[in-house]
Amino acid sequence: MKHIEKKHEASGEIALDALAANAALAGRTPPEIVQWAADTFGRKLIMTSSFGAESMCLIHMANTALPGIPIVFINTGYLFPQTLAFMEALRNQYRLNVMEFHSEHDPVVWLSINGESDPRVRQDVDACCKANKNSVFDRAMTALAPAAWLRGIRADQSELRAKMDVVEVNRRTQSLAISPLLKWTARDIHQYMRVNELPYHPLWNQGYASIGCNPETCTRPLGDGQSQRDGRWSGTDKKECGIHLDQGAGI
Ligand code: SF4
Repeated sequence: MKHIEKKHEASGEIALDALAANAALAGRTPPEIVQWAADTFGRKLIMTSSFGAESMCLIHMANTALPGIPIVFINTGYLFPQTLAFMEALRNQYRLNVMEFHSEHDPVVWLSINGESDPRVRQDVDACCKANKNSVFDRAMTALAPAAWLRGIRADQSELRAKMDVVEVNRRTQSLAISPLLKWTARDIHQYMRVNELPYHPLWNQGYASIGCNPETCTRPLGDGQSQRDGRWSGTDKKECGIHLDQGAGI
């Protein structure tokens, strides 16, 4: 696939034609896409992970193709304690290179000064995501300055994600966003997890199919007939925390 890459004479950075990359990667399996990304970008490739329900799927693929790949984990200050314990257990068991970035705000103080009187809910989810997740993500990407990053989104999770390409130019991070799992279904993920004996998040068995922060306005277990992302910001129009939106934190 060298024809879609070229090196800038001055900077040595790899410039890549996203259109050509998507055409060349059509029909490739997620592990093949991850391997291509590792071969193309080497140590300039990182990944993001929420250490959510099925996160070990992409982590396993990425850490197999590029052992020690930096895994950006954004700690908003409002995560489930089970998520933090899950991340620590996986970090040790699989020798993962987790790079944990924290919100620069004290979580309790931020709630107080922003009129959020009940920590079990958020009245202004966009303001909270902007301050405690998106700003942290932007700081992490600025600090690490990757050429490309792997993310675990899937087309069947939302209408917005269904319109995305496997390889996208991400102006926000000045890098390429690569979504190897985009065309996979929950069944495909489950099959990969089963074959490779990978663990699910401990809340998975309690009906949490997509796991973010712990306020009940942000993450709930699924009810009957609900689809995988319906437990996130349930009852609102909000579908994204914002880090997968190229316009940045101004969600
Ligand atoms: S998901 Fe909820 S708690 Fe987490 S940053 Fe967004 S609004 Fe805040």
